[in-house]
Amino acid sequence: MKFRCVDCGTKWTEKEIVNPFLCRCGGLLDVMQDLEALDGERLRELFQARLSERITPYASGVWRYKELIAPELPLEALVTRFEGNTALFRAASGLEQSVGVRKLWFKAQSGNPSGSFKDNGMTAAVSYGKAMGYTRFTCFHRQYGILPGDVCGGSRRRGARFFARSFGSAE
Ligand SMILES: [Zn+2]
Repeated sequence: MKFRCVDCGTKWTEKEIVNPFLCRCGGLLDVMQDLEALDGERLRELFQARLSERITPYASGVWRYKELIAPELPLEALVTRFEGNTALFRAASGLEQSVGVRKLWFKAQSGNPSGSFKDNGMTAAVSYGKAMGYTRFTCFHRQYGILPGDVCGGSRRRGARFFARSFGSAE
């Protein structure tokens, strides 16, 4: 995996970075994917074939696209509750016309395991943590709510432990 600092533009390999999130200048690190090396036609066929998956991690609407999201993660590191396979609903024709498109679809992310779109990111976060050897995960959140629930749900898979801490006032 390679990273690029969003502030100074310095590129880093995974072995060169000291902090997993920050450049030495203090800027955030962005993950760099080598998309030009990918065969688009082969990936299209692969992603289409995975639509019939029901048991493997590729049944996830996130990990179906693993080659675009985290090609370096081993399959056994993926922690998933099949996030992202949520329903699409077509907008009313009047709305499509008013925004100037032929077809407009809404993705119902409330169909995710915890009822939130955040499940999609948390499956990636917990999977990366597992690949790095972590077995315990903590989530600090302003209010105990959906995000800790997402991390909890994902990390309880495969024996990982979860701790949530909330701060701030619940309204
Ligand atoms: Zn930098």
